Amino acid sequence: MRLTVIGCSGSIPGPESPASCYLLEAEGFRLLVDLGNGAIGALQRHASLYEIDAVCLSHLHADHCLDLCPYWVARNYGPDGAYPPIPVYGPEGTASRMAQAYGLDENPGMTRAFSFATLAPGTCQIGPFDVTLARMNHPVETFGFRFRCGNRSVAYSADTGESPALVELARGADLLLCEATFLTMPGLPPDLHLTARQAAEHAARASAAQLVLTHLPPWNDPARTTEEAAEVAFGGTIVRATSGQSFDLR
Ligand SMILES: [Zn+2]
Repeated sequence: MRLTVIGCSGSIPGPESPASCYLLEAEGFRLLVDLGNGAIGALQRHASLYEIDAVCLSHLHADHCLDLCPYWVARNYGPDGAYPPIPVYGPEGTASRMAQAYGLDENPGMTRAFSFATLAPGTCQIGPFDVTLARMNHPVETFGFRFRCGNRSVAYSADTGESPALVELARGADLLLCEATFLTMPGLPPDLHLTARQAAEHAARASAAQLVLTHLPPWNDPARTTEEAAEVAFGGTIVRATSGQSFDLR
């Protein structure tokens, strides 16, 4: 299984990275996890737009889903005409929200390019991945994921405040891709995002092997993000995500 960070900028695109988007590949299957603003551009450095097999959206905040709009354009109006639909997994209401975002009538909306499927907590199969889903602690319906293929697994926090469910998803995972939006300071809003320290605490509780800090807003000092996470007693390695970086899990 290979994970490539397409976009890791938190809340808005930054000068060095699009907003949230990750490419997960196994057995020749390419799954996009989140498709935040700017992601479609950087994605083309790593995969053809027409070789993506499925898209999975954790939630419907703009920085996690909005580039489904340009992707719809690419699949509808590509040089070879319209491409056959691929599955897009997302929370309840994804199809109508994306139609609204582009200003399309809801029928057919984007359904000629994408076959929309609604996510629910529990387990499902996406291509070669056994997927476990749980609701995260965020103001809109948001799913965290654990993707397993063979004996390797990657967990992804999406956006979340502190969450026991995230610890369960990440239990013993080879890699936890965890949001670290905040730096510790007084008056942070609860139930929204994690600090870098809290991300490391979740990874430690889950005994994940590797922590990749992501969803990093461009206004944060990256060195402080790393320092905060490193203060936690965590036995695994900690990496700050950058756009274009890949992780091979064999
Ligand atoms: Zn969000």
